Amino acid sequence: MTVERTLSIIKPDAVAKNVIGQIVARFEGAGLKVAAAKLVQLSRAEAEQFYAVHAARPFFKDLVDFMVSGPVFIQVLEGEGAIAKNRDLMGATDPKKAAAGTIRADFAESIDANAVHGSDAPETAAVEIAFFFPGLNVYSR
Ligand code: ATP
Ligand code: MG
Repeated sequence: MTVERTLSIIKPDAVAKNVIGQIVARFEGAGLKVAAAKLVQLSRAEAEQFYAVHAARPFFKDLVDFMVSGPVFIQVLEGEGAIAKNRDLMGATDPKKAAAGTIRADFAESIDANAVHGSDAPETAAVEIAFFFPGLNVYSR
């Protein structure tokens, strides 16, 4: 395993539930370190660009509407195998199918409001990190 970085977003539903700390504690408990973090309100243009890969999908408008419905907490997580580790901690996209004990099983309500985003590969992680944290303020420790 090599040390990787991945992008995590705690989505508007989980921020509204006031569970940022509980979710970050799961990342830290699994050995991931926070390398950058910010609480922001995404613009519609940012949300559309971030999820551009899904632009042709029928759920795209609902997805963008949801992502701009309130503030999100965006982090760079760093650690051994961070990309897969984060995805394991998140659980399946549809919380009804997410394994017990995962973030989505415990905090998400629906496939639309599913609590967290995580990069799915090294290439997407690099693009997503550069999108939200261009250049500065990403720390290795
Ligand atoms: P994310 O990219 O948010 O981490 P994911 O990688 O598990 O989620 P993707 O396939 O990338 O899932 O889909 C992005 C988002 O689009 C999902 O988080 C979900 O909210 C929404 N989505 C995906 N598939 C569907 C679907 N079949 N119906 C409704 N919404 C969907
Ligand atoms: Mg995805």
